[in-house]
Amino acid sequence: MKTIGLLGGMSWESTVTYYQIINEEVKRRLGGLHSAKCLLYSVDFDEIENYQRNNEWPESGRVLRQAAQSLEKAGADFILICTNTMHKVAEQIQAGIGIPLLHIADLTAAKVLEAGLQTIGLLGTIYTMEEDFYKGRLEAKGLRILTPPQEAREIVNKIIFQELCLGIIKEDSRVKLQEIIKDLVEAGAEGIILGCTEIGLLVKPKDSPVPLFDTTVIHALGAVDYALQEE
Ligand code: GLU
Repeated sequence: MKTIGLLGGMSWESTVTYYQIINEEVKRRLGGLHSAKCLLYSVDFDEIENYQRNNEWPESGRVLRQAAQSLEKAGADFILICTNTMHKVAEQIQAGIGIPLLHIADLTAAKVLEAGLQTIGLLGTIYTMEEDFYKGRLEAKGLRILTPPQEAREIVNKIIFQELCLGIIKEDSRVKLQEIIKDLVEAGAEGIILGCTEIGLLVKPKDSPVPLFDTTVIHALGAVDYALQEE
C-alpha cells in the first residue's frame, strides 16, 4: 500500500471528511483492521485565505510547496491538495516535489464522463467557478460547464467562506443552494459538480434532481485506488 500525503486544513472541516473516507474505503476493500497509510500536513487556513483575497497566489503556492516537500520527506508516495481552489497553484507545488499529485479536477472529469454526462453545473468558490485553472481544465476534457449567474456565485462563495469553512451548517443556505442547483438544471445541467470540498457537508443527493459529483468523495476514493494499485 502506498502512503498518501494529504495537504489539508483548507478548511480542516473537509480534511476530516477526507481522512474518514480514505480509512473507511481501505477498510472496506482490505477488511479486518486495515487502515490507510497516510500523512497529513494541515496548514493555517487564515494565512492561505488572506493570500487568496489579496491575489497573492505565488506566496500561497510557496507555503503549500514547502508543505508538500515536508510530506515527501516524511515518506508520502503521492499527494492530494484537499481543496479545489488551491489547485490554482498545483503546478507550482508539483514543480517542487518528485512525487505525483492527484489532480482533483482530472479525477472529477473522469467520473462525469464515465457517467455519460457532458453538460454539467459547477459550484465552488468564485476562483473555482470563474477561472480557467479549474473550469478550463474540465472543458479541456470535453465537458460543457455551466456556472450560476454572478449574484448566485457570490452567494455560493459567501456560504463557503462565512459558514461551511467555519463548521456552520444552515438550513436557509441549503435552500439557497437547492434553488441555484435547480436553475442550473433548467439551463441544461445533467449533473452538478460540488467543486468545493465543504459543499458536501451541506448539500446531499436529495437536494438535487440530477446526480451530484462530490469532489471530496471522488478525490478521496481516487487516492485509495491509487494507493492500492499494484506496482
Ligand atoms: N475547500 C474549498 C475548495 O474546495 C474552499 C477553501 C479554499 O479556498 O481552499 O475550494
